[in-house]
This record gives sequence, C-alpha cells and structure tokens, in this order.
Amino acid sequence: MELIVLTLATFFSTLLGGLFAIKFKDKLHPIMAFAAGVLLGVVTFDIFPEIIRQIADNNFDPIEAMIALVVGFLLFHILEKSILIHHNHENDYKEHKHPQVGILSALALIGHSFMDGVGIGLGFQINTAVGLLVAIAVISHDFTDGMNTVTLMLTNKNTTKKSKIFLLFDALTPILGAISTLFFKVSPHFLVLYLGFFAGFLLYIGASDILPEAHSEKSSYKLIGLTILGVIFIFCITRFT
Ligand SMILES: [Zn+2]
Repeated sequence: MELIVLTLATFFSTLLGGLFAIKFKDKLHPIMAFAAGVLLGVVTFDIFPEIIRQIADNNFDPIEAMIALVVGFLLFHILEKSILIHHNHENDYKEHKHPQVGILSALALIGHSFMDGVGIGLGFQINTAVGLLVAIAVISHDFTDGMNTVTLMLTNKNTTKKSKIFLLFDALTPILGAISTLFFKVSPHFLVLYLGFFAGFLLYIGASDILPEAHSEKSSYKLIGLTILGVIFIFCITRFT
C-alpha cells in the first residue's frame, strides 16, 4: 500500500518539476545554471557515497564502478557527438543543437527514473523504514528529474508537446520500476555498476551540456551563484534523508 502511495508521489513530483520548466521556459538559462549544480550535488553527495557504501559492504573492487563511470561519460559523449556529426555536415558552423540529442538525454533520464522506482521497491523488500527513506530521497529529487528532462528537450529544439510526452514517461517509469521489483531482484553488484554509469552520464550532461548552455548567452555572477545554490540545495536534501 505504502509502495503505491509513494510511487504516486514520485509521479506528481516529476510532473510538477517538468511543468515548472515549461512554465518558465523563457528563463531556462537560470534554471539550467541551478540544474547543473543539482547534478554535481547528486553525483557527489548522493550517488558517490552510495557507491562507496556498497563497495565497502560487499567487498567489491572499486575499479569496476569507476570503469562504469567512464563508460557512462564516454558513451553519452560519443552518442551525442555522433548525432551532431551525422546531421551537421552540410552546415558545420551552425549552432550545434539537434532534437535527437535532447531525446537521447531524456531517454537516459527516463531509464534512471525506472531505477528510482526499482530503488524504492528494493528498499521495501528490506523493510518499511528503508523503503520510506529511499522514497523520500527519490521524491525530493524527482522534481529536478522532471525539470531536467524538459529542459534538455526544449534547449535541444524539441517542441513543448514532445517535451510533455517525455515528461509523462519520466513520471510514469518510477511506478513501473517499483512494480517490477515484485518480480525480480537487483544484485548489489549490478547496482554499483549502474550507479557508476549513471554518475558518469550526469557529470557529462552537467558539465558539457547544461552548464555551457546556461552560459551560452552571457555569463553572470547570478548564474554562477545559482549553480552553487544547486549544489548546496542537494547537500541539504541528502543530509536530511
Ligand atoms: Zn531520479
């Protein structure tokens, strides 16, 4: 029962974040500056401590998670740039933006949202208290998942309508992820590799897509301040959950 209520909360949290980004799409630059800080915070204060904990608890070799991180970073880089190489031959000096890059990023986030749901489900397999803790962590960052999905879609020249469809997928997948845990178990080994991979992906889109895009018109101390605020925001959230 709790599982259903909590995954519904992730649904609305993601949806609200995305709608927020759509409503303020004229102000995407400040939102992106903040989001870049959020991504850095998620990688360092949420994902990395979890990787280290899992490695320590299970006596894994740390290099595996780090290889997964590099693969996540490079794989996304290669996919993104291949799309651009493929489509930009005829106008090499035009702006480097393509809707498919937005879709690729959004799909990666949707895959992650599925894992968010899996995380909640697995938490409840341990016990209700752990399930609740994971759910709170997921619900509180899902707002930014939704925001990032829409922001990446819109800045890569996708339509608002298409962005909304991907947002809806992003909001629905945690529910599917949670339901899936009724049928299978994820091993800690897989979890560590997944977390490493996802950390690499987030570092890449944060530093190579979102942050440069935030500063693409003009840089300001306000934008820099928003990025720092994003980091502090996630630091505080992860301390409380
Ligand atoms: Zn998430």
